Amino acid sequence: RGTSPEPPDARPRLTVLSGPSGVGKSTVVAHMRTVHPEVWLSVSATTRRPRPGERHGVQYYFVDDDEFDKLVANGELLEWAEFAGNRYGTPRAAVQERLDAGEPVLLEIDLQGARLVRQSMPEAQLVFLAPPSWEELVRRLTGRGTESPEVIERRLDAARVELAAEPEFDVTLVNTSVEDVAHELLALMLDVSGSDPQTPEN
Ligand code: 5GP
Repeated sequence: RGTSPEPPDARPRLTVLSGPSGVGKSTVVAHMRTVHPEVWLSVSATTRRPRPGERHGVQYYFVDDDEFDKLVANGELLEWAEFAGNRYGTPRAAVQERLDAGEPVLLEIDLQGARLVRQSMPEAQLVFLAPPSWEELVRRLTGRGTESPEVIERRLDAARVELAAEPEFDVTLVNTSVEDVAHELLALMLDVSGSDPQTPEN
């Protein structure tokens, strides 16, 4: 949904899914991938410690501060941001490879990262995942049970700021049903032309 039509040679699209912490971005993405395992999702690098059940190379590449410094210094990250005391970044090469191969690419990143992608890749499609209500968001952030009260408080602060960013995004999806949102997100990703389904690829 844009104000001007895409050019006929629109490139495969980079879609960025962002929104407040705890809104359910990773649940939506995980659901989409169980239904459509062929959809490729960028795996980020992070300095955060793994949560129970998380595996290196699957949810994230878990790296230490020195390794993250090197990724930044070598220009290997498409974007990166600090979030609630940890750093997160998108490895550039894998994303570029997929786009060059003509495949849609999905990034699930925080708001600061979404803004950086907007600057470096203006053609990217920015999707905001909104909670059904603030109360629901607080409930989800408090109920995860894996974070300390300090971390939860920091995440609530970040969420307040992030909710205000919705107008910067191209599309808003309200997370009332994981199945519905995952379906809508996939449709947005595959809509290469942005409007006309008959526009030829590239
Ligand atoms: P979590 O620690 O809960 O897995 O993620 C915290 C936040 O970091 C989420 O909002 C998530 O979307 C974001 N995030 C994950 N990977 C990246 C990344 O590569 N870049 C940026 N900017 N944010 C990320």
